Formats: sequence, structure tokens, C-alpha cells
Amino acid sequence: MSGIDGLPPLREVIATHELSARKSLGQNFLLDLNLTAKIARQAGDLSGFDVIEVGPGPGGLTRGLLAEGARKVLAIEKDQRCLPALAEISDHYDGRLQVISGDALEIDPLEHLTPPIAIAANLPYNVGTELLVRWLTPKEWPPFWTSLTLMFQREVAERIVAQPGSKAYGRLAILSQWRADARIVMSLPPGAFTPPPKVSSAVVHLRALETPRFDANAKILERVVAAAFNQRRKMLRAALKGLAPDIEDRLNAAGIKPTERAEQVCLEAFCALARQFET
Ligand code: SAM
Repeated sequence: MSGIDGLPPLREVIATHELSARKSLGQNFLLDLNLTAKIARQAGDLSGFDVIEVGPGPGGLTRGLLAEGARKVLAIEKDQRCLPALAEISDHYDGRLQVISGDALEIDPLEHLTPPIAIAANLPYNVGTELLVRWLTPKEWPPFWTSLTLMFQREVAERIVAQPGSKAYGRLAILSQWRADARIVMSLPPGAFTPPPKVSSAVVHLRALETPRFDANAKILERVVAAAFNQRRKMLRAALKGLAPDIEDRLNAAGIKPTERAEQVCLEAFCALARQFET
């Protein structure tokens, strides 16, 4: 029995259901339930929230989220071997856990949920960034989610919170910080996982802002930022010349020196530049 919920310890769950970790599915499991409860607490008070979890695996973080009081957890898992273990958790928690079997990139879970909605996950590394970008670029803002509490490789976490002038600063920083508060809230060494990955990990907490930090059209901002960082070593007048023949004038009007590189330009200035393309 484990301390947080009276269910069997995760090592036993893994042995019973023969859940040997598969690299192709990004399976690095968290087996310490005190640690998964701590990660769940980084999401804040979940008692009034439906929570989406991508990749519950044997259910370590799932159990943390339920024990910490999430109203409901909707977990999407691609590996069918995990389903019997997850069904035991669902029984124990009177159906507060709903599991959808399939690929999170292809499933729209919203019809099963009632707002407010939070997302919490120890993401599979191969699809983590793609899911984050989707959650950050919905058609409408504010998005369907209130907060994201997500485990990434440390290097990806640093790209999310990066500031101008650093190597990690790029498209992910702009997308994350334009319409959300983003912070690294926990760091985890490889040894926290079974099997241990090659690199360290970190949990990032993002809270959606009601309105963007600076005015800009989302599609235009994304296009400008993608072009600027695609050729991050070039001066902006060269990197962005494909966007408009009078790019130097537009950069100047936005208060950006045409000789600057993308890495040096702050979020507010990128938004000012995007506004130059609205007319
Ligand atoms: N949440 C568990 C934990 O913390 O121990 C497992 C995390 S493990 C890093 C990633 C999980 O995502 C695995 O269970 C894997 O099977 C699942 N997974 C991988 N690709 C997926 C996808 N496209 N959609 C849904 N789940 C996926």
C-alpha cells in the first residue's frame, strides 16, 4: 500500500502489468508518489478543475493529481498495456479518472470536460513541444485551459522561459510569454525517473493571461517570429527581407535597429513589428 492513496506502489503496478519502459513512446516513469504529488501541487488548487493529463503511463502523476484533489482527470494514453493499471486507479477514485486510449496529437478531449480546465503532464519527449505549441496557439484567446504544468527536458524548459540575449531565446519563449506567465517551478535529475533519461528535466508552470501582454495579431506575430529566428545569426533586415521589400522602414517604425539580430529583440518590440504588418 502506498501512503498517498492506499493503492499498490508503482514498482508493484509495473511488475504486475509487465510495463517495461519503451523508448519509442518516451517512457521514463516517475515512481515516487511523494514526488508526483509535489508536481501535482505545482498546478495550484485543482479542487474545482478538470485536468487533462497526456501520457499517464502506470499512473504516478495521475495518482498525484487525484490525491491532491483534482475534480476529474482525463488521461490520454497511447500505450494500451497501461490501461488495466489505469482502470484500477479509476475504480479506486470512483470514476474521477477517465482514460482515453489513443494518440494525444489526434484526440480532442474537450467534449468530455467542464471548465475550468488545467493541463498537467510528464510529457513524452517526442511530442511535448508540438503539444505545447498547439496549446499556445489556439484560434481564440483566452484558451480553453487556465494553466499548464508540464515536465520537459531541462533544455526545452529553458527555451520556454528564456529572455532576450540568451541562446535559448527564440520562438518558444515568445509564444509562451506573449500570452502567459511562464516559470520553471521544479528541477529533476535523471535519477528521478525509471529508466533514467540522459538529460535533466524541469517542470514549467504556465498561467494563461486574460489578454495578450502586448497587442498583436497572433498569425502575423508567429510569421514574423518564425522568419526572424529561422535565420537567427543574420541581421533582421536580411532575415526578414522576404516578408516585405520595405522591411528596414518597418523595423525602424517598430523601434528595432535593422542591424539587430532576433536574439536581441524583446517580446514588446516583436509585437510592435507585427503591428507594422497589420495595415
Ligand atoms: N505520466 C507517467 C509518469 O510520470 O511516470 C509517464 C510519463 S512518460 C514520460 C510519457 C507517457 O506518454 C508514456 O506513458 C507514453 O506511453 C505516453 N505517450 C507517448 N506518446 C504519446 C502520445 N502521442 N499520446 C498519448 N500518450 C503518449
